Amino acid sequence: MVILGAGPAGLVLGNVLLAHGIDCVILERATRAHVQSRARAGFLAANTVRVLDRHGLGEGLHRRGQAHGTCEFRTEGCRFRLDYGSLGRGEQHTVYPQQELVTDLLTRYLDAGGQVRFETEAVAVREADGARPRVEVREPDGRPARWQARYVAGCDGRHGAARRSLPAGAVRRHHRDPGISWLGLLIEAPPSMDAVGYAVHERGFAGHMARTPEVTRYYLQCGRGEAADTWSEERIWDELALRMRAGEHGALRRGPVVQRAVVDLESDVLEPLRHGSLFLVGDAAGLLSPSAAKGANLAVLEAELLAVALVDALAHGDPRGLDGYSARCLPFIWRAQEFSHWMIQLLHGSPGETSFQQALRCARIESLRTSRTHQDWFAEHYVGV
Ligand code: FAD
Repeated sequence: MVILGAGPAGLVLGNVLLAHGIDCVILERATRAHVQSRARAGFLAANTVRVLDRHGLGEGLHRRGQAHGTCEFRTEGCRFRLDYGSLGRGEQHTVYPQQELVTDLLTRYLDAGGQVRFETEAVAVREADGARPRVEVREPDGRPARWQARYVAGCDGRHGAARRSLPAGAVRRHHRDPGISWLGLLIEAPPSMDAVGYAVHERGFAGHMARTPEVTRYYLQCGRGEAADTWSEERIWDELALRMRAGEHGALRRGPVVQRAVVDLESDVLEPLRHGSLFLVGDAAGLLSPSAAKGANLAVLEAELLAVALVDALAHGDPRGLDGYSARCLPFIWRAQEFSHWMIQLLHGSPGETSFQQALRCARIESLRTSRTHQDWFAEHYVGV
């Protein structure tokens, strides 16, 4: 079994396969240090924690993760909190930085004897429609090499070799780009409040999300095509304070910006998630905007579903799970997409928004503030995958 990519998807898959005695190798383009320090997600859904626990992979997050169940909305003239941990199904998030999860999963996989080839870039997957697909790679010294296996799992994200290798017409790509971008910031400072903060402002969205007691993630809606380094620290703090209405609701805890990147809120889903012996998992299967923090959670869920199906096929000769993999995953993916897009509409005025659309958005926020039924629905979808 060849797995492309050592992100959450590839590492969960590798760990579960290894625990069932399935021989596998992970090919990873980046260095180990880079993989272990790439800060992205931080909010793990209750079901993600259950999946990780089922395979003995949750020890670190139980030791160092923090339970989280409150979010706060700030708009013109209104501020309200939802204790989503006690609404809906009563489930909470666990705040645990993605790079720590990846480090735990990688350490566990290597300690169990798993193989990872770092700095090995998959260039193409060939003959995926046959029973012996081949992965062509560039070795760390630049030389070409190849790996062959019964199956290949494409866990190498949206720009990876798995997607690139799909022949025209093999899968359909559903794509949506609402034309909105966020400047994602990691700031070396404690969280400014004990809730996820969503600020809706005429100058654009601003968000606050805890990561660790020392580091906090903030988001600022920015212009499409704007470069992250054109934002001075002064401008970042001015905009955050203005949009989060810090004057009214409390000052933000400042610190140096340690990472910044512009993220376009694009989404897509490939269908089906299989081409012959090549399977797509995580961001390679479908890209979710970070508006609802679902991407890493779906990656873990899909990796488990594929791992179980591969164990049935390779250890017990039963291919039914593999045949049904795509149909099992797609409803989860579409539900997550639906909620992510609902969040996008709630939090932003779209480019060219009419006064009618703006009033609808305000009505939706008001309904969320006042309707228990709406709040239960929100909580179920916000924490669920
Ligand atoms: P990745 O984590 O992207 O891993 C893919 C791996 O493949 C990488 O290590 C890459 O180096 C490697 N690779 C790529 N190409 C090749 C190649 N050709 N050959 C070999 N290796 C290759 N999700 C949440 O659930 N909650 C959140 O709070 C959240 N916040 C986010 C914030 C930001 C700013 C961003 C950008 C994303 C966020 N996400 C969040 C999304 C989440 O990070 C991704 O959905 C998740 O990382 C997907 O995991 P993956 O394993 O599929 O892919």
